[in-house]
Amino acid sequence: MADSCQMPAWRRALAAAVTDPAELLARLDLPAGLLPGARAAARRFGLRVPPAYLARIRPGDPADPLLRQVLPLGEECREVAGFGADPVGDLDAAQAPGLLVKYEGRALLLTSPACALHCRYCFRREFPYAAQGAGRAARGAAVAALAGLPGVREVILSGGDPLSLDDTALAGLVEALDPVPHLTTLRLHTRLPVAVPERVTPELLEILSGSRLRCVVVIHCNHPREIDAEVRAALEALGTVATLLNQSVLLAGVNDGVDVLEGLSLDLFAAGVLPYYLHALDRVRGAAHFEVPRERALILMEGLRARLPGYLVPRLVEEIAAARSKAPVG
Ligand SMILES: *Cc1c(COP(=O)(O)O)cnc(C)c1O
Ligand code: SF4
Repeated sequence: MADSCQMPAWRRALAAAVTDPAELLARLDLPAGLLPGARAAARRFGLRVPPAYLARIRPGDPADPLLRQVLPLGEECREVAGFGADPVGDLDAAQAPGLLVKYEGRALLLTSPACALHCRYCFRREFPYAAQGAGRAARGAAVAALAGLPGVREVILSGGDPLSLDDTALAGLVEALDPVPHLTTLRLHTRLPVAVPERVTPELLEILSGSRLRCVVVIHCNHPREIDAEVRAALEALGTVATLLNQSVLLAGVNDGVDVLEGLSLDLFAAGVLPYYLHALDRVRGAAHFEVPRERALILMEGLRARLPGYLVPRLVEEIAAARSKAPVG
């Protein structure tokens, strides 16, 4: 057992995540009436909120937009027509265990099944990671399979969250990818810099800058209040070694307003991040209460285009199983 003093701060933060619904409600001064629903929903997809994210949630407000993203609700257990377990057809896209190739030139590697934060709307909330081998043993096989796909220029480390891997495992993976001749770009999809900003360490920057591959980090942030001074500092550091982009999901009761989305783009830009995608909700079971009607989404986009320079307007897209790219909405 490693001495906890030797454990990096980000590991301690992960271990200190709140996972018990009763504790979350108590710490945030929320009505106990929410507990039965929270417990029922957490049995399907566990609660997980790390301390830095918890600190940004406003106590006493059940409608807080950061809370809504993480609090299990009884509503999640409702069956809603059209909402299923694998809404984007990922299981059909696996070329090797843990390696998804849906789009030309890019391959997505399920690097680690773990996430720092459990987002209630996650389209992979029911993904069978174990069967897909998103673990240490399978990563080598996925890299070998990738070496046999000469059309792939860009490898995307996704998950779960690739930055939940420890530095040794991550460095090993990055080193294994480096010699694959057809690769030019290493992309990471991660919520860690927002959920656990402690994860952005000098060691991490060294791993990413040590690769011959050009590095792109796509963070996941949905609301301007997710970006505090600590997150901004983490992003600025990350920006010294990678191109930074953000993807958000359009979520009812979280960011379905022009002011919020405008603020998000401006605050991201202030931290050196450009908006990339605004995803229409994937219709995963348990997330129906987050859906924003299509007409409303289009009105929001029009509002954003009127207020922001084009480079701060994210692309509104949806994922359609078997389509050749993310599909523009509108
Ligand atoms: C979203 C996704 C990508 C990346 O798509 P971009 O449009 O390049 O961001 C690649 N592979 C899979 C399987 C995906 O789901
Ligand atoms: S961080 Fe990403 S993969 Fe993990 S729960 Fe949230 S949306 Fe899903």
